[in-house]
Amino acid sequence: MLNFNFYAMPVAAAGLALFLLARVAFRYREIPGAAAFAGLLISCAVYSFFYSLELSSTGPRGAFIFYRLSYIGITALPLFFLLFALGYTGRIRRLSRSALVLLCAIPVTTLLLVASSSRHGFYLRDGRLDLSGPFPVFAFSPGPWYWVWQGFVLLAVASGAAIFYRMWCRAAPAYRKQAGIVLAGSLVPFSIYVFYLLDLVPWGVDPTPFVFLFTGVLIYLGLSRYRLFDLAPSARGALFESLPDGVLVFDLKGRIIDFNRAAGAALHLAGGDIGRPAGELPGVWPEISGTESAEFFELKKPVDGEDKWFDIRYSQLFDRSGILRGRLITFRDITLRKRAEERLREANLRLEEATARAERLSLQAELANRAKSEFLANMSHEIRTPMNGIIGMIGLLMDSELSPEQRQYARIAQTSGEALLVLLNDILDFSKIEAGKLEVEEIDFNLQTVLDDIAGLLEFKAREKGLKLDTRIDPEVPRRLRGDPGRLRQVFLNLGSNAVKFTDRGRVRITARLEREEGEKAVIRFAVADTGIGIPPEKKESVFTPFTQADGSTTRTHGGTGLGLAISRRLVGLLGGEIGVESEPGEGSEFWFTAAFEKPAPSSVPARGPSVYDRAGFLARIMDDEELAREVEITFLEDIPLQLERLEAAAAAGDRETVRRQAHKIKGAAANLGAGALREAALRVEEITDAAGREEMKDLLRLLLECYNKVAERIKSGQSDE
Ligand code: ADP
Repeated sequence: MLNFNFYAMPVAAAGLALFLLARVAFRYREIPGAAAFAGLLISCAVYSFFYSLELSSTGPRGAFIFYRLSYIGITALPLFFLLFALGYTGRIRRLSRSALVLLCAIPVTTLLLVASSSRHGFYLRDGRLDLSGPFPVFAFSPGPWYWVWQGFVLLAVASGAAIFYRMWCRAAPAYRKQAGIVLAGSLVPFSIYVFYLLDLVPWGVDPTPFVFLFTGVLIYLGLSRYRLFDLAPSARGALFESLPDGVLVFDLKGRIIDFNRAAGAALHLAGGDIGRPAGELPGVWPEISGTESAEFFELKKPVDGEDKWFDIRYSQLFDRSGILRGRLITFRDITLRKRAEERLREANLRLEEATARAERLSLQAELANRAKSEFLANMSHEIRTPMNGIIGMIGLLMDSELSPEQRQYARIAQTSGEALLVLLNDILDFSKIEAGKLEVEEIDFNLQTVLDDIAGLLEFKAREKGLKLDTRIDPEVPRRLRGDPGRLRQVFLNLGSNAVKFTDRGRVRITARLEREEGEKAVIRFAVADTGIGIPPEKKESVFTPFTQADGSTTRTHGGTGLGLAISRRLVGLLGGEIGVESEPGEGSEFWFTAAFEKPAPSSVPARGPSVYDRAGFLARIMDDEELAREVEITFLEDIPLQLERLEAAAAAGDRETVRRQAHKIKGAAANLGAGALREAALRVEEITDAAGREEMKDLLRLLLECYNKVAERIKSGQSDE
């Protein structure tokens, strides 16, 4: 049935080689198109194998059997070729399931028709061995389906070749060689196939195995030399296309070589514009096609009737041998950032205006208040002199002979006069403090003595009311202090006399303890606690306001002006402390205050550096607009790395002018945000002189980057300085 046919040998060898190549290709099966390519080579190997057996057959029966078997490979060939083209160029995703079924239907039908052709002759008729050539060839007369099949093959091979041709046309320079190899690998079988159909191949020999061997070897070369399957253009294409930034490639003559979807949309480019000079295309902004050197800048352009801002960047494209081949332009829509900046600028402006207005108003109010206080101080001082005269004269009057009725009147006049004098003294004190006329003394004194004095002054009244009075100073409290004992005494007297006044039973306790030490200063916490009537919670704050009493009937029952605590609060302020009250109505009150005295002791305390990121301050400046704050922070994170990059590039190029300009921008952004350390670092870079050395520049840049990283970390973690 078989005999040795010399001509079948190369066909069989080609089949074996194709099989080996298929194994190599199958290793890359994860890459789009590679599995189809391996399938293509296997189909061809199967075909070659049976074809070589067909060529070695002795009779038409055997030849016909192998001829039919070879169709297992033949029918799969165009299908795999087309799938390879679609897969490698990433178009397979667009192929619908029904289209795939249709594609498979024709080869399957053909295979069935070939297998059963002896019954119907639909595919071929009159199978015989043609012995006219140098070796026997299976010959036949084609049936109608034969031409359908050939049409399908032609269409599939032509479509695959067209797909590869398109890929070659659009491929970026880096992929040109790959695309060229694949295109050549597909065009050769296509053209030879046309020859075969036109019956231009000698002896009716089918050249398919050899042609596909050529394709296989060529693509194998592509695999090993140009990493054909390492990164399929489809992957690169998907990435390139999905970039939100617009990307354009120009050759040296200014012609458009490639562009992605974002660039196409913004510049109204279509596939047909590839290869055309940018100058001829009205949609391409002249600013981006005209620049020769590598740079970056910002550009405002109307897009779809709206003004948009873009950040444009250039880079030069070199081939493997380092020869300049073209330019790559990327552009990013930075409109949102620009708008946020604009809003921030406006908010800052409004804030500055509001601050200036508030300052003006507060200055006016302050001046008016001072004038009022000065008037009050002068008046009360002036009234005090005749008041003393009146009280003195009443005293003399009471020493004289008076009827009981006259004495009664004189006593009432005397008590009223004394009450008026107390009031005048309080008003004088209060208005003096308000007018800034009260000065605080700085003298050495003994705290024990001061507290003993006060206890002595209060004791008489306390004993009269049957109250216990005790004084306790903690041992850690330094006794020798420097400050104003007179003012301290005044506060104590106010609090102490209130305590005695508002307590009918129990005790009054005066205490002093060390709150904290700040270097040479000791902050002492004093308290006057009583077991008296107490203060309702809602009145705790208001009792410190001038002329306010916790209970409206107080004046009637206890006298007083409602000024004592207001004066005390101001005096405590002058002493560098705070005042407050803890109280339980019916249980008693504890009025406490702190005061600082000097004591002789050694000291985006170590002195505190500038803030990393004062978010609270920033928020306050933008009127607590959290949304704006987030926007500015995001912009800051997006923008500053770009600015730093530019700054570094300029520093590397020795362009100090740009360095200073960029540093100035960073400084502004840092100041806006309240990133003090970054602002200072940027200021140092901005102030760098031309004479400064490279090392100094490097150090400063490192510092700048460090400061930025810290701010970025704070923003990302949502932290802020306290
Ligand atoms: P006044 O001259 O009325 O005592 P102050 O400013 O000293 O003025 O006190 C204001 C008000 O605070 C008092 O009228 C009183 O209602 C309340 N107050 C002050 N000290 C005490 C205390 N120890 N116990 C209860 N109430 C007090």
